[in-house]
Amino acid sequence: MDEVESYRDMAGLAVGGFPLLIALVGSGLPAWRRGFYTTYRKRRGGLAPYRAILLALLAGALLTSWFAYDLHRSEGVSLFAGDFWGGLREGTVIVGVVPSGIVGIVLVAVRALIMKSRGAVAYNARPYLSFGRLERMWRAEQAALTGELADSGPSSPAGAQARACLDVATRLYETKRAEHGDPLGAGHVLAAIVLARAGRTALNSGAPIPEELRFCALNPLHGVTADTYPLFLKRTEPASLRPLCASCRDRSMVDPDFDPWDRTLQLPGSFPQLYSGYEPFVGLDHGDGIGVDALLRGSEERLDLCARTRR
Ligand SMILES: [Zn+2]
Repeated sequence: MDEVESYRDMAGLAVGGFPLLIALVGSGLPAWRRGFYTTYRKRRGGLAPYRAILLALLAGALLTSWFAYDLHRSEGVSLFAGDFWGGLREGTVIVGVVPSGIVGIVLVAVRALIMKSRGAVAYNARPYLSFGRLERMWRAEQAALTGELADSGPSSPAGAQARACLDVATRLYETKRAEHGDPLGAGHVLAAIVLARAGRTALNSGAPIPEELRFCALNPLHGVTADTYPLFLKRTEPASLRPLCASCRDRSMVDPDFDPWDRTLQLPGSFPQLYSGYEPFVGLDHGDGIGVDALLRGSEERLDLCARTRR
């Protein structure tokens, strides 16, 4: 391969590879950048990191094309001949596809490291709680609420609600051992944790949680909220107003690709399913979320049913 042919080959590599590299990396960059957002905020000015990366790639492409054009003139021979075409073919892989993959892996790692240093979640996996994790959470919440109730003074409306929560939660947890509605009884344990947390919230705020407050529709462990937000629970149906905690609301406003199902809590069973399909949550949510009192009532009904069917 003489000098001219090797230059032709290099030019072909660049021409065949750079546009592909820019297109592949560029298409993923906006989504990569959105992953840094944890709260809703207005677009800021200045050079966004993804634009800087794209500009660097474009500058590389321009420099290479200038080099190829210059060579084309100085050698006095046609550049677009001979090894140029072989280089063009190889370029798609050597400059395009493979470096795109490497850049992609580096970007993924960079975001994971930056988000970890900020104490935030870099990549949203579907929230899933294993049965062991649920049991550990229940034991911790039960101990905490029992302790806080013992420390609290004479009975108050908040204390009464907290006691009711602890009572129903304890019975829910105990009943899950005897019942086999879902193979592990994960729904009972989740409801027990949610109620215990609600009891602690009432105690700490000094007032019972009002009926109108609802648990976050995507994950009741996020706590109660007064705010509702339009949420597309099915892509084919119009958005409906659902209770959402601040964190879920921010996420749904920030991310145009936000899919509520990707953020809805899943529980173990024969295969992981959305928590709303587990007793005692089934049927409690009439499209406007579940409040503390509704969960207490629904749980009592469920416990009655369990007691009757056991005999
Ligand atoms: Zn939430």
